[in-house]
Amino acid sequence: PLQAKTVRDYIRTIPDFPHEGIMFRDVTTLFADARGMRLCVDQLLAPFAGDRFDAVAGLEARGFILGGAVAHQLGTGFVPIRKKGKLPGKTFEQDYALEYGTATVEVHVDALQPGARVLLVDDLLATGGTAKAGIALLERLGAEVIGCAFVVDLPELGGRAALEQMGMPIHTLCSFD
Ligand code: 5GP
Repeated sequence: PLQAKTVRDYIRTIPDFPHEGIMFRDVTTLFADARGMRLCVDQLLAPFAGDRFDAVAGLEARGFILGGAVAHQLGTGFVPIRKKGKLPGKTFEQDYALEYGTATVEVHVDALQPGARVLLVDDLLATGGTAKAGIALLERLGAEVIGCAFVVDLPELGGRAALEQMGMPIHTLCSFD
């Protein structure tokens, strides 16, 4: 090819998953590619060059894959934000709205020191509900969320606008309609 592949080019779209009418943006094809994985970790961090972070937090489950690699690159630890019932220690819980019903995410109460400067990472930003719940948990720990980084933005679903409204710096690598 004349032009090197971009992060977006490595993402596969699967129609009608998990249900009819949904175009699922599958990042496994991005993560499986050596150059794709490297590109995406480097690009997630690029705007934060020179910033000091104490930790990376990742949202279950694809945010764990990215978050671990990003934390290694930054030289920080990694904090998982998990679906309810998975973390073994004492947790804080946060509910958030889904298309149908609600979901709950959790973080260990002692995962971070108060004042910790944190980067929140996930694969994809849609309505922003998951990220908002993650931010709320990190703030309950007394952490300072310096920014959020996602591979994919679905701007029509309004997540970026909602998070920017809160004054949160949002970084995304590509978008789909
Ligand atoms: P939100 O809470 O912003 O509406 O949805 C974002 C969450 O749902 C993320 O944790 C993301 O992993 C997941 N998600 C929703 N749609 C997709 C999709 O098309 N592809 C992928 N990879 N994840 C999705």
